[in-house]
Amino acid sequence: MAVLSPLCQLKGGCMGCCGHSFTSAIHIRQAINDNTKEFQERKPKTETEFLSFRDCYEAMDLHHGVCRNLVQEKGCFHCPLHPARHNDKDLRINHCDVDYLCPTARSFATWDKKRQDHFLQFIEKQDVDNVTYSIKMDNGEMLKEFTAKDI
Ligand code: SF4
Repeated sequence: MAVLSPLCQLKGGCMGCCGHSFTSAIHIRQAINDNTKEFQERKPKTETEFLSFRDCYEAMDLHHGVCRNLVQEKGCFHCPLHPARHNDKDLRINHCDVDYLCPTARSFATWDKKRQDHFLQFIEKQDVDNVTYSIKMDNGEMLKEFTAKDI
């Protein structure tokens, strides 16, 4: 879950780059539910406990294509290793490509404010859940639909 783009935080949080080779929305939800259950059972509080949660699995040991650290809290996807949760210390390093941005977010960053606002409004109107949003951001479908309307 990158945070370098405002797109990453819409629709309940995007998890499109928290894994790869996703099989289906059902499997993605299952994986996140399993991660969340494990996280809630462990209830990490200290940095050591967060690292211990992280190190339960190897970095690339994905579950249905989803990072094993990704959890859901209050209906939003969330990375418990993110620096925002650890006084700017990034516990994701070596477990995640922390500088990755999907092609959609990279394109968005090059647009002028007017086009960015159009895209944000377009997203706002989409009736999609967070998993569908994530898939469509990561595979470029949302951008393709927007581009078709915004010519
Ligand atoms: S897939 Fe794109 S929009 Fe989604 S979290 Fe990753 S960089 Fe952000």
